[in-house]
Amino acid sequence: MTLRSILLHPDPRLKSVADPVATVDKTLHALADDMLETMYNAPGIGLAAPQLGIMQRMLVMDCIKDDMETPQPMVLINPRVIFASSDTNIYDEGCLSIPDQYAEVERPAVVKVEWMNLDGKTQQEEFSDLWATCVQHEIDHLNGKLFIDYLKPLRRQMITRKMQKLKREIARGNA
Ligand SMILES: [Zn+2]
Repeated sequence: MTLRSILLHPDPRLKSVADPVATVDKTLHALADDMLETMYNAPGIGLAAPQLGIMQRMLVMDCIKDDMETPQPMVLINPRVIFASSDTNIYDEGCLSIPDQYAEVERPAVVKVEWMNLDGKTQQEEFSDLWATCVQHEIDHLNGKLFIDYLKPLRRQMITRKMQKLKREIARGNA
């Protein structure tokens, strides 16, 4: 397993639509391992392949935050929402590609998602609470959408400017 570096906003790859995965092979299994390791190391609860610059429709997540609970790593390939509730939830969202910036985002409270697992089989599951928000946030990444795209333009521009400054500092070696 290898830790991979996570792209930071703004980056054109984070605004692009990812391609469907055609076949589940060894390379994809290795990528899933790397993605989970990178996510846990960050630490984060979700990570999508485009955040590593890999433009494939695949995401990993584990919304168990309590160290006392058993981890629940999930790998979703070509995921799509097949049902979304009209009830909504609001969570203070963050993103590994937009570190230290958080904002409230309203999303459907319950979603049913269909995806392909690492055995190449189709799977369905209903997600609620934080899991529902997380899976929708990650699927958005596959469509080139970030959580800040739900915010008012002024707020979004403020966060983007902060991120541009952070990236300049990183480039200069000060962060
Ligand atoms: Zn994110």
